[in-house]
Amino acid sequence: MNNGYVDLHCHSTASDGTLPPAEVVRLARDGGLAGIALTDHDTVGGIAEAAAEAQRLGLAFLTGIEISCEYPHPGTMHILGYGVDPNSATLRDLTTRLLEGRDNRNPKIINRLNELGVFITMEEVEQEAKAAPDSKKPIGRPHVAAVLLRKGYVSSIKQAFDKYLAPGGLAYFDKERLTMRQAMEMIRESGGMPVLAHPLQLRTQSDAELERVIKDLKDLGLIGIETIHSDHDAALVEKYTRLADRFGLLKTGGSDFHGSNKKDIRLGVANGRRIPFSYMESLLKRHQELRRAG
Ligand code: AMP
Ligand code: ZN
Ligand code: FE
Ligand code: FE
Repeated sequence: MNNGYVDLHCHSTASDGTLPPAEVVRLARDGGLAGIALTDHDTVGGIAEAAAEAQRLGLAFLTGIEISCEYPHPGTMHILGYGVDPNSATLRDLTTRLLEGRDNRNPKIINRLNELGVFITMEEVEQEAKAAPDSKKPIGRPHVAAVLLRKGYVSSIKQAFDKYLAPGGLAYFDKERLTMRQAMEMIRESGGMPVLAHPLQLRTQSDAELERVIKDLKDLGLIGIETIHSDHDAALVEKYTRLADRFGLLKTGGSDFHGSNKKDIRLGVANGRRIPFSYMESLLKRHQELRRAG
């Protein structure tokens, strides 16, 4: 039994974090963490590098991905897929579809910005994301925000979202998303375990509504809830922990580290709280059981 700490929710340069996958793992080691799961948006492109570094440094490692689903405004539903097999054909289909959704959206954002007299180009955004023009890297609003900041159109990433990129902003466009059923099915078919990320962001209006959502997800194969997250204060952690226990779901936790794209978040620390190794151990154990059950 390991009584250290882990981080089960973090992003690298494979999506919209600012540190390469191996550096995220090294930072975890330097911070004294015993294990890590990399959960980039819409891609497993960073997994091989992170897994190799974790093995080299002796950290427990779990594959992961974070997927946004269709969900009524103003909420957002993100599903984490732990233990997905990066080589699964379903996962390749999944990530291809998610990337197409982004490819359709990004030019709309940039055209609208140009119409507003904000002159940035797709090439600049790709450079910011360090993505080759036809690469499989998910380019998102944080990359656009970083270009807006660098060129002096805004004074912070937050302002870029508030003024232009967030819902209600001048250049907001949604991307095509999967339904929650599709996301759940594809994660499971990829050998993964679906977990509801940061339930606060669902912005449910009542406990009854939140419980309904969790029940629906559980019927689709949900195995856990992210109880510890940088957005959750102590009261919320307690509330989501009670819900997880009541629904027979595992508890997970992570910082949602993005490097300098989210300046106030430190790897391994979620709103002052650490994530016990036992949370990762439970996921690893469940993964083994599922694989044995075939
Ligand atoms: P996208 O994948 O392009 O839809 O962008 C989602 C990313 O943008 C997530 O990593 C969020 O953390 C980040 N994001 C969303 N809203 C904001 C905001 N208001 N301020 C800063 N980052 C945000
Ligand atoms: Zn992100
Ligand atoms: Fe998220
Ligand atoms: Fe995230």
